[in-house]
Amino acid sequence: MSDFENLVRQIHDCRKCALSEMRTNAVPGEGSPSADIMFIGEAPGFNEDRDSRPFVGRSGKFLDDMLFSIGLSRPDVYITNVVKCRPPNNRDPLPGEIEECHPYLDAQIEMIAPKVVVMLGKYSFNQFFPGESIGQARGKPRSWNGVTAYPMYHPAAALHNPKLRPVIEEDFRNLLSLIETPEPGPENIDEAPAEQLSFF
Ligand code: URA
Repeated sequence: MSDFENLVRQIHDCRKCALSEMRTNAVPGEGSPSADIMFIGEAPGFNEDRDSRPFVGRSGKFLDDMLFSIGLSRPDVYITNVVKCRPPNNRDPLPGEIEECHPYLDAQIEMIAPKVVVMLGKYSFNQFFPGESIGQARGKPRSWNGVTAYPMYHPAAALHNPKLRPVIEEDFRNLLSLIETPEPGPENIDEAPAEQLSFF
């Protein structure tokens, strides 16, 4: 079993806080363990708890649409949440629950080593940058522990307020530029001895 699979197993079996007693399933995350882009939401809801998959409700459909709009799909990225079990009645996770769960998120970030961490919504963003406004910060990449952090509105925000939809669309369009590395054009190729340029 790989370290990553072991981590997923630990999350499924976790009994560190009271949320584990109320869950149907833990929701470790979904996607590629070597993704360049990692999305971090808040917590599983009813559908996620039932299916053990992140973002499977209406906001998940919107997230899928946004990924599709930039030529990506779930297997290209990694999607997870700050806490891995559903809080009852979808309340905000309590500080103790976050504290117990945070090592899992830290380990996921370390193992996946994404180029960009997208914090979806105020809640996720404030775990990394406490006290700041998501409205001010969204769409502006910044550095966090050597990774590019990219705050965005939560997809659910666009469902409540359709005016935010074009804002989220714009932030998704700009997301790709954060992971693109320039193709080596002639100007980027180092001078090399002729024999090293042979393709045979
Ligand atoms: N579904 C999730 O998995 N996370 C959220 O933050 C919202 C819905």
